Amino acid sequence: MKYLSGLFLICLVMASSACRQPPAEIHRTFLALGTLVEVTLYDVPEPKAEQLLDAVETEFRRRHRDWHAWEESPVTRVNRAFAERRCIAVPDVLAPLLAPATRLAVASGHLFNPAIGRLIALWGFHAETYPDRPPPEDAIRALVSARPRMTDLHRDAEGRLCSRNPAVALDFGGFAKGWAIGEVARLLQDGGVRNAVIDAGGDLQTLGRHGDRRWRIGIRDPERRDAVLGALEVGDGESVFTSGDYERFFVWRGRRFHHILDPRTGYPATGARSVTVVHPDPAVADAAATALFVAGSGRWPAVAHRMGVDQVLLVTPEGSLEASPAMAARLRLANPERTLHVLDLETPGPSALSDQESPD
Ligand code: ADP
Ligand code: MG
Repeated sequence: MKYLSGLFLICLVMASSACRQPPAEIHRTFLALGTLVEVTLYDVPEPKAEQLLDAVETEFRRRHRDWHAWEESPVTRVNRAFAERRCIAVPDVLAPLLAPATRLAVASGHLFNPAIGRLIALWGFHAETYPDRPPPEDAIRALVSARPRMTDLHRDAEGRLCSRNPAVALDFGGFAKGWAIGEVARLLQDGGVRNAVIDAGGDLQTLGRHGDRRWRIGIRDPERRDAVLGALEVGDGESVFTSGDYERFFVWRGRRFHHILDPRTGYPATGARSVTVVHPDPAVADAAATALFVAGSGRWPAVAHRMGVDQVLLVTPEGSLEASPAMAARLRLANPERTLHVLDLETPGPSALSDQESPD
C-alpha cells in the first residue's frame, strides 16, 4: 500500500484567483490496485456525480480483482497454465491488455517487462507485508537467464494463449493503474463530465480545467518526504505518472531494495530515484515511467524516444535532475537555483541499446 502520493495536486490557495472561487467539487476516495484512489469531479450535480463515482469505484475494484497478480484471478489462472506448459483461452478481461503491453515491452527493449511476474514474486513484492532480505542469488540468476518476455506468448490454432517459455508469468503491476485510469477517464467523459482528476496514489489523469485555469500538479521530491521538486501546469487529458524507489521497499544491511526490478539483473534498478512521465495515454505514461526508471540516468532518452514519450523528468541516484527538452520547457522548479540537465531524445542507433534492450 502506498501511504503517500508521489504527486500532489496543488491548489495555490493564496496565489490563485481560481482558488478564491473554487468550482464545486465532489470527491470519492477508496483503495484499489494496491493504492489510494481519489476521484474528484467538478461542476457535476450531486445525484449524477454520486452515480458516476459509484461506477468508477466499481470499475477500479473490478480491475483490482481481474488483474490481481497473486490472489486467484484471471492473471493467476493464465500464469498457472504457462507454468504447466498448457495453452489457455484468453480471459476477456486480459485480452485488450496483451497487445499494448507487448508493444510497450518491445519498444522499451523489455525494460518494461510484464512477463517477469515470477521474479517479482520471488522478491516478495507479491505480498501485503514485505520480506526483510533479498532472495537467494542463484534463484534470481535462474529467472534472469530464463529471459521471460511478452514476445514468448503466441496463439495456437484454436486461438488459445500459449507461452514458449514456462518462466513467463504475467504481472501488470507496472501498467494496470494506467490502463484502469484510462478506462475510468473514458467512462467519465461518456457520462458528460468535463472537468475531473483521477488520482491513483499520485499517478493521475486530468480532464478539462480547474475553474478558469489549468491544473497545477506538484512532483514529489524523492529525497524529502512531503516536499515537492517542482510543479507542472497540466491541460485537458494529460496523464502524469511517477515511478519511485520510495514507494515500496525494505532495507537490508543498510541497502534499500525497492519494487522496480531490472529484468537484466533481476535486482532492483539502480539508475534512478524517481521518474515522472507526462503523456496523453495513462497506460503509456505508466509503462514508460517504469521502463525509464530501469533505463536510468543518461540512458533513458533513447528508450523514451522508442516508446513515443517526450516529457520526462528523472532524479538520479545522486539527486540531480535530468529532463527532456519538452519537460524542461514546462517544469517550474521549487528551487529555481537547482540545475536541470536537459537531455535530447536521440534516435537510437544500432549500438545505443544493449542486447536485452534491443527490441525483438
Ligand atoms: P507504482 O506501481 O509504485 O506506481 P510502477 O508503475 O513502476 O510503480 O510499477 C511497479 C510494479 O510493476 C511492481 O510492483 C511490479 O509489480 C511491477 N514491475 C516491477 N519491475 C517491473 C519491470 N521492469 N517491468 C514491468 N513491471 C515491473
Ligand atoms: Mg509504471
